[in-house]
Amino acid sequence: MTNVYEELGVRTIINVAGISTRVGGALMPPEVVSAMSEAAKSSVSMTDLQAAASRFIATITGAEAGYVTSGASASLTLGAAAIIAGLDPGLMERLPNTTGMKNEFVVSREHRTGYDHAIRVAGGKLTEVGMNEQLSGAGVRRTEVWEFEAAINSNTVGILYTATPTSEPPLTSIIKMALKYKLPVLVDAAGQLPPVTNLTKFIELGADLVAFSGGKGLRGPQSSGILCGRRDYIASVALQNMDMDEYFDIWDPPEDFIPKSNIIGIPRHGIGRGFKISKEEIIGLITALKLFSSGKYRPNYQVQQRYLKLVAKRLTGLKLEPKLIIPKDDQFPLLHIILDTNALKMSGFEASRKLKLGAPGVFVSEKLLHENTLIIHPINLDDARTEILIEKLIDVLGDNER
Ligand SMILES: *Cc1c(COP(=O)(O)O)cnc(C)c1O
Repeated sequence: MTNVYEELGVRTIINVAGISTRVGGALMPPEVVSAMSEAAKSSVSMTDLQAAASRFIATITGAEAGYVTSGASASLTLGAAAIIAGLDPGLMERLPNTTGMKNEFVVSREHRTGYDHAIRVAGGKLTEVGMNEQLSGAGVRRTEVWEFEAAINSNTVGILYTATPTSEPPLTSIIKMALKYKLPVLVDAAGQLPPVTNLTKFIELGADLVAFSGGKGLRGPQSSGILCGRRDYIASVALQNMDMDEYFDIWDPPEDFIPKSNIIGIPRHGIGRGFKISKEEIIGLITALKLFSSGKYRPNYQVQQRYLKLVAKRLTGLKLEPKLIIPKDDQFPLLHIILDTNALKMSGFEASRKLKLGAPGVFVSEKLLHENTLIIHPINLDDARTEILIEKLIDVLGDNER
């Protein structure tokens, strides 16, 4: 029986790289898939739908409002556009041209990622500060709060902060500093779910806008995301993302979502119009958020541990050392496979390339390839895939001459 991919001549793969976009991200739970399919059967007003999603996201995150975006990267662009243009349709019209507007986001050098393109798309400009001298081996310190303060000037519009469990300076100290200068803090927390507690953590600390991916640990649609935070910014996001072909006089957006009384007119399609999100994706994201926030994914972490233990056991005797990494809270367990490259006569890079070949190819996480370590991320594993994974690993890393 051929599936939709094979029909098109595309092989399916075993994705143990994890939630990476290039290998399709996390597989959606059946509840999400069926909710999306049900959503496809009726029409709704997209304004009503996003307004309701906003209220739901607000309840779950503790933010004033929320928005379903087409990914965390889109959340960053829309968030930056909202911070730059506010509720002024005239400024919205001009983006990404920010001549004469405040457009600088101060960011620590060590918080820069390939996603800072998302800020520049909106017309934002990144002002880099600080160092990580621990990483460069040149010293003991990392970026410090005063370095942000020293870079703030009359063009500064906000602070960009990339959240990880080890981000420096601590978000609390950045927020405290930003309050002093009345600057909003936009937090990129794309990959920070799980743990569930992070849904509320950054908002609770006082972040103005927080971006999460929908297609990573949330297991929603791959091209979905969340932006949550201040109500006025979310209204600006809606105005710059939604289809705006409306007559002002008869336009009735829910007042708690878009305060019509505060805007002088309806902007044309905005900078975010290309980051369109469908009703099916909005329902899919909301369904995934419901499952995740109510702890429904928690038992999976136990099952995932079992799969990884089985893989480790079955690799016994091969020229490698399996190492199971069990996190403290409700996060993903991981299996590190440390290759004995001398005995194997194969580097981590070669091993990963060989695993990818054929049908099905196995795509491992390549974060530690430079240490000749393959990482197995279990989010997409089930009984059948675990068995195929084991066979392929033995085939490539085993002794049999090929
Ligand atoms: C994954 C990721 C993004 C992008 O998320 P998408 O939902 O794929 O758009 C942005 N920032 C960071 C730090 C990420 O890890």
